[in-house]
Amino acid sequence: MKKLENKVAVITGGNSGMGLATAKLFAQNGASVAITGRNLVTINSAIEAIGNGAIGVVSDVSDVSNMEHAFSKVEQTFGKIDILIVNAGFFAGAPLADFTEEMFDQTSDVLFKGAFFTVQKALPYLNDGASIVLTSTSLNEKGLSFAAAYSAAKAAVRSLARSFSSELLGRNIRVNVLSPGAIDTPIFGRGGGSKEEIDGTKAFFASSTPLKRLGTVEEIAAGYLFLASDDSSYMLGAELVIDGGIKAI
Ligand code: NAP
Repeated sequence: MKKLENKVAVITGGNSGMGLATAKLFAQNGASVAITGRNLVTINSAIEAIGNGAIGVVSDVSDVSNMEHAFSKVEQTFGKIDILIVNAGFFAGAPLADFTEEMFDQTSDVLFKGAFFTVQKALPYLNDGASIVLTSTSLNEKGLSFAAAYSAAKAAVRSLARSFSSELLGRNIRVNVLSPGAIDTPIFGRGGGSKEEIDGTKAFFASSTPLKRLGTVEEIAAGYLFLASDDSSYMLGAELVIDGGIKAI
């Protein structure tokens, strides 16, 4: 059975990695899907791959006016939104002594401010009863070297789901968080580095995970589908951790 028939879903950062896999799964489940991202070329190839009439809107989540425009475009095409997946993000890591103000501002602007204003700007375009899922990380309560700003920004995102759920109760809008562990996506190569270095980073995260492997984008997409659909109708302000055991063990 298709779980998202007649639903309109927006996925920020839907042109790569977990967002793209989720967009494909949502379209297979009947949703009209809109993705956002900054790269027009990958947005165009993604909407072909997603199918079911998917659309893409170029927008940077750290620019508040961009998000307003994106939601207005989605409403013009599909009508009001039932599902919002706040997924766009990146990873900047460095030792505390070397982490620059620019890296800090970018981390904060994309991950924390971006998530906050993505939800705020979506409000007039959401149907009552909508499901919002924010993307955190299983590092949100851990201390990992070189990842202080990233982990803190994602911990803030974890907090937002609780506060937003409280504020949006009157509209029956549920806000939950999905916290992935180390998932095999292009994120590992975005900071540059040779293939050997990227493979080395992946191997480090795989060996630090109790299941001794990276997660797949399909394993994460299944979690987003659960939180987006009525299958999770009694969950709000909650966290779904899909991390191969990192947080628990
Ligand atoms: P990815 O393949 O690199 O995809 C990141 C997506 O975010 C891309 O679609 C990218 O689009 C978009 N994006 C980045 N900055 C943006 C901005 N300023 N405005 C709009 N879009 C932006 O990475 P991923 O692993 O799937 O990551 C998705 C989310 O999961 C991120 O929030 C990440 O922090 C989180 N996460 C990842 C892991 C992991 O191990 N992979 C673990 C925990 C959490 P453009 O290319 O067009 O900019």
